[in-house]
Amino acid sequence: MTSKLNPIPYRLYLTEEQMPKQWYNLRADMKEQPAPLINPATMKPVSLEELEPIFCRELAKQELDGQTRYVDIPQEVQAVYRMYRPSPLVRAYNLEKALDTPAKIYFKFEGNNTSGSHKLNSALAQAYYAKEQGLKGLTTETGAGQWGTALSEACAHFGLPLTVYMVKVSYEQKPFRRDAMRTFGANVIPSPSETTQVGRKILTEHPGTSGSLGCAISEAVEKALTTPDTRYVLGSVLNQVVLHQSIIGLEAKKAMDILGEYPDVVVGCAGGGSNLAGLIAPFMQDKLTGKADPRIVAVEPASCPSFTRGRYAYDFCYTGRITPMAKMYTLGSGFIPSPNHAGGLRYHGMSPILSKLYHDGYMEAVAYEQTGIFEAAVFFAKAEQILPAPESAHAIKGAMEEALRCKETGENKTILFGLTGTGYFDMTAYHNFMEGNMQDYIPTDEDLQKGFDSLPQIPEM
Ligand SMILES: *Cc1c(COP(=O)(O)O)cnc(C)c1O
Repeated sequence: MTSKLNPIPYRLYLTEEQMPKQWYNLRADMKEQPAPLINPATMKPVSLEELEPIFCRELAKQELDGQTRYVDIPQEVQAVYRMYRPSPLVRAYNLEKALDTPAKIYFKFEGNNTSGSHKLNSALAQAYYAKEQGLKGLTTETGAGQWGTALSEACAHFGLPLTVYMVKVSYEQKPFRRDAMRTFGANVIPSPSETTQVGRKILTEHPGTSGSLGCAISEAVEKALTTPDTRYVLGSVLNQVVLHQSIIGLEAKKAMDILGEYPDVVVGCAGGGSNLAGLIAPFMQDKLTGKADPRIVAVEPASCPSFTRGRYAYDFCYTGRITPMAKMYTLGSGFIPSPNHAGGLRYHGMSPILSKLYHDGYMEAVAYEQTGIFEAAVFFAKAEQILPAPESAHAIKGAMEEALRCKETGENKTILFGLTGTGYFDMTAYHNFMEGNMQDYIPTDEDLQKGFDSLPQIPEM
């Protein structure tokens, strides 16, 4: 058998010089800005002063800054990005062959770090700014565990104490995730806990509860607000996180430029929207400025369909209802998604930036059920020899559907998708799939109505 080397390499890594030195702020090129965050106490757009008790100063500024197009990546953050970046742009030759498609498929692989996902890109930035401000600690919540792991790594690097409230059911079911965080020095507390007022209240009212993401966020926020020099940090949804994740798209675009390629379609999975917004950022810039017109496709789980069945409305970012409200596609902060193995995609709302772009017709969204997602994950793993995270498998499925359409029409389109992470901590999900025990669940309109009923009443503005 003769083997022929492909003219385009399987994996392209940028050089030091080619690496982006700035993040790109998509809002600077949007014709209309996303709706502002609103303070639920005053019903007015939040000010920097109002955000500062919750977020560290520089991040609060980034949150409100819709004008600055490029933001320098601090030297210290660039230095630690170099430990695991650039991430490769991969030409999925074997997936193309397995699908027998004329389409060219590329993916940007963000799973090459211990946290196993793109979340480290923002965790490092957030930990750096907190350290620089002289803060003494951070708090956060984690559901599935990826964000908690990424932030633990980041805090270990910058020498910052971290408390992670981990939803109790995950704490018990994912002991390895918990211990990964502890390896990096984080204090991991199962939520609800006795360490906060809100936790004690929930434990009294619902003894034996297995916890929820909303409850864990409430505890993390309370802990930050009641501990001196401590702030709360969030791993997705926010504008600041979207800014940091632009590194994904900037690298991908540069690598495609080098190859003389440009995507016809860009596909990403959407939980809170940060990886998708980061991946599409420079391509959306081309769209907004009229330079190019790629299609942009968000893929979400049918069990938590924020884009495809949600409302575009002001909502709370979590059930605690203290922090600012954001206008976004949402299922309502009271929506309780069914158990789904892609834990990172179970959030009720969507990045306000992406929500605005979707609302204005700049992007599309599709939803798939989880058995189909795992079929795609297994197909991809065999072809490309990477075991994908269930979240990432949504993007795989979306890209495969595009490629199969090309097979029907004979079009040789170029597809780019985001492979956000690896699935080594998700083997229970793979096991259920292999055993044929996985179920699909699509919420009824009545189920969704319960979530919509929890939306806050906002006076017309
Ligand atoms: C958290 C996570 C996601 C979803 O988060 P976004 O903010 O929507 O990007 C996707 N993939 C992986 C592997 C994750 O850990």
